[in-house]
Amino acid sequence: MLRTTLLAASRSPRARSVVEQLPPTRALVQRFVAGDRLDEAVAVTDELVGAGRRITLDHLGEDTRDAAQAAGTAAAYEALLAALKETGLAERAEVSVKLSAVGQFLPQDGERIALDNARRICAAAADAGTTVTLDMEDHTTTDSTLGIARELRADYPWLGVVLQAYLHRTESDCADFSGPGSRVRLCKGAYQEPASVAFQGKHEVDRSYVRCLKVLMAGEGYPMVASHDPRIITIAGELAQRNDRKPESFEYQMLYGIRPEEQQRIVASGATMRIYLPYGGEWYGYFMRRLAERPANLAFFLRALATKN
Ligand SMILES: Cc1cc2nc3c(=O)[nH]c(=O)nc-3n(C[C@H](O)[C@H](O)[C@H](O)COP(=O)(O)OP(=O)(O)OC[C@H]3O[C@@H](n4cnc5c(N)ncnc54)[C@H](O)[C@@H]3O)c2cc1C
Repeated sequence: MLRTTLLAASRSPRARSVVEQLPPTRALVQRFVAGDRLDEAVAVTDELVGAGRRITLDHLGEDTRDAAQAAGTAAAYEALLAALKETGLAERAEVSVKLSAVGQFLPQDGERIALDNARRICAAAADAGTTVTLDMEDHTTTDSTLGIARELRADYPWLGVVLQAYLHRTESDCADFSGPGSRVRLCKGAYQEPASVAFQGKHEVDRSYVRCLKVLMAGEGYPMVASHDPRIITIAGELAQRNDRKPESFEYQMLYGIRPEEQQRIVASGATMRIYLPYGGEWYGYFMRRLAERPANLAFFLRALATKN
C-alpha cells in the first residue's frame, strides 16, 4: 500500500513540487545521489574507485518532453564520458542510460530518436574505452528497449541490458540474452506493475530472481547481480562456484548509499563490486523509488521533516 502510494507519487508533478521544496529532502537525496554537477559525479567516482569499487554512472532524467531535451541528455553523457577518459577513470567506470531520457517516449519517432542518441553515447563510450548499460523501465517499454539493445549490439557487442526478475517473461529473456559476451544486469524491478505481467509478492519475485540467475550463471555471458538482498548475494556466490565461474566472469552491483559495509566486504572478498551512481538535477523519480523500496528510508525522511518544522 505504502509502496504503491510512493510509486504513484514518483510520477505525480504535484507531489514532486511539494517533496522538492521540503527542507530535509536535500540531505536525504545526498545519500543516494552524487550531486547536481558533472564535477561532483567525477569526484565521487574517483573516491569510490580509490576504495576498490567499479562504477556505473547515471545522468538523471526521465521526463524528456522534446527532441532537443533528448539530444541535450545525450550531450551530457558525451561530456561525462570525455571526463572519465581524461581523468583515467574510464577503465573502472561505465555509464547507465534510461532510453526514456534520450527520447523513447516522444510521440513522434521516439524509438528512432532514442536509438540515435543511444548510438551517440555508445560511440563516446567506445572512444573512452568503456561500456554502456541500458536501464529497464516499466513493462510497456521492455520490447522496445530490448529491440534497441539488439540493434546497438550489432556495432557495440559489449552493450549491457537490464532484466527485471518480477516480470513473468524474464526467465525466457535471460535465456535469449545468455550467449557469449552478453552483459545482463539482473535486478528485481522497481516499478508498480500489474499481476498480469509481474509477480506481486516478495517471495515469488525472489524465487524468480534465483531461476533467472541460474540461467545467466550457466550461460556464456557476463551476469551482473544487482541486489542488496543478502540471500540473493549468497546464492549468487554459490551458483558462480557451481558453474566454475572465475571472479572476473561476473559482478555484483549495488546502488550508491545502500549497504556500504556489504559493498566493502564484497570488494575485500576479491569479487567485482560495481556501484550505480546517479547525478544531476532530475533526481525526483529516482529518489521516490528508493523510498518505496524500504519503509525505513521513509521513516528517516519523516523524522527529519518532524524535527525541521
Ligand atoms: C545496480 C542496480 C541497478 C538497478 N537498475 C534497475 C533498473 O534498470 N530497472 C529497475 O526496475 N530497477 C533497477 N534497480 C532496482 C531494483 O529493481 C530493486 O528495486 C532494488 O535493487 C531493491 O531490490 P533488492 O534486490 O535490493 O532487494 P530487496 O528485497 O528490495 O531488499 C533487500 C535488502 O536490501 C536493502 N535495501 C534494498 N533497497 C533499499 C533502499 N532503497 N534503501 C536502503 N536499503 C535497501 C535492505 O536491507 C533490504 O532488506 C537496480 C538496482 C541496482 C542495485
